Amino acid sequence: MAQCRLIMFFASLSFIAVAIDASAGDADPIYKACIQECEKTGCVTDKCFQHCKFSSDGIPVDGPWYFQEPLYQRWKQWDCHNDCQYHCMLAREEEREKLGDKPVKYHGKWPLRRVYGIQEPVSVALSALNLAMQFHGWVSFFILVNYNLPLRPNKRTYYEFTGLLHLYGLLAMNSWFWSTVFHSRDVELTEKLDYSSAVALLGFSLIVTILRAFSVRDETSRVMVAAPLIAFVTIHILYLNFYQFDYGLNKKVCVGMGVAQLLTWASWAYVTRHLSRWKLWAVVIGDGLAMLLEIYDFSPYWKLIDAHSLWHAIAIPITFLWWSFIRDDAEFRTSTLLKKTK
Ligand SMILES: [Zn+2]
Repeated sequence: MAQCRLIMFFASLSFIAVAIDASAGDADPIYKACIQECEKTGCVTDKCFQHCKFSSDGIPVDGPWYFQEPLYQRWKQWDCHNDCQYHCMLAREEEREKLGDKPVKYHGKWPLRRVYGIQEPVSVALSALNLAMQFHGWVSFFILVNYNLPLRPNKRTYYEFTGLLHLYGLLAMNSWFWSTVFHSRDVELTEKLDYSSAVALLGFSLIVTILRAFSVRDETSRVMVAAPLIAFVTIHILYLNFYQFDYGLNKKVCVGMGVAQLLTWASWAYVTRHLSRWKLWAVVIGDGLAMLLEIYDFSPYWKLIDAHSLWHAIAIPITFLWWSFIRDDAEFRTSTLLKKTK
């Protein structure tokens, strides 16, 4: 019986995943017919694509012998499919707009216009800015704790969370790097790298949150907090990459870890007398807003700005405030510890 329930649970989960993958746009028979036609002729209305120039047996119609390499051939076919999907989507959306219909999603995504071959130009630009902001925050923290604040006699920093925050900075920069790549070109590999990096960052920042908010300083307690979380996040990443890429499940895991962090910081900011607690409040409220955007997910403006790109925009000031809070915290902890030693 329990087994049966478990199977039903997983069946409904996979149904949710399928439902997310097949959107209203790509279920449309006119769009489907357009793709079929395009892959045969290599054209959508008056636009034709170089990538679709191969005959039915897979041998290119023109071009030198090296164009017939199997790998190149597959790449070309894949590019043709991609171009057809994109231009059929644009053509269909134009027709729908003339009829006064609202935009619909295609393959789980809103119809966005490419700029210089970049699939989601606004999200790419904002991800790159976030990467720069994380780099700036991390470098300024590094300089502060290593050069501007006094060091212990053993040359280590007084601030007890230095190592953890260096690792956090690296994971954050890694995550924004893959976000930039993924929004430029959405393929299976870039999607997996982006999702995995984001989950790793979220999991690690939950560890940092718990350790800082509860002032966990000794190694044994830190390991007891970190080990189960690291194990959970690792299993989840392996599950996504090698078993099933389940969007629904991943959303639940991410929202769960995100909400846990926000609640911890909010309660801490409420009880603490830390001078920079207002920065944490701003981070918590900004993150909450960002989460609402992901859930609300409106259709894009001018085929460029969607809810997802807006949450990347909100992340920029949040990153600034977050590293600013960390710097204040490092100064605050260092001066407290120095007073104690005197
Ligand atoms: Zn993104």
